[in-house]
Amino acid sequence: MNCPFCQHPVSRVIDTTKDSRGGIRRRRECASCHQRFSTVERVVLNTPMLVKRDGTREEFNRDKLLQGLRIACAKRPVSASALEQLVSNIEAELQKKGRAEINSRVVGDLAIKGLKELDHIAYVRYAIVYLRMDDLHTVRDEIDHLLFEENN
Ligand SMILES: [Zn+2]
Repeated sequence: MNCPFCQHPVSRVIDTTKDSRGGIRRRRECASCHQRFSTVERVVLNTPMLVKRDGTREEFNRDKLLQGLRIACAKRPVSASALEQLVSNIEAELQKKGRAEINSRVVGDLAIKGLKELDHIAYVRYAIVYLRMDDLHTVRDEIDHLLFEENN
């Protein structure tokens, strides 16, 4: 890494410590101007590209997912922070898979699973759209299933 003061490419490491987030901080001294600066080395996890049903790719979009979840949770007792947390969990889950690409269904499945734990009404709303439940019987079956789970 170049010196931020004079752009010289060579620096000497004078101290190495761990930072609070598990990264490695190196205190350096520029070999040319002798100014001191620090660099931090930290693991960066990449979020896989999403492969959509029609074969096209798109980047994982936090805001888009959050927006969909918010709509499903409209007027339900689900806090904004719970939804933010759900989106973060989903993103972390995708990163943990360590793949370059992933079927976009995985995102929807994780969202559905998360919503089911947060609020059953929001879950059903999301599921109707996402799972393309296009007849009342399928919706009723799912609701019966939830009621059964609630009572057992
Ligand atoms: Zn320098």
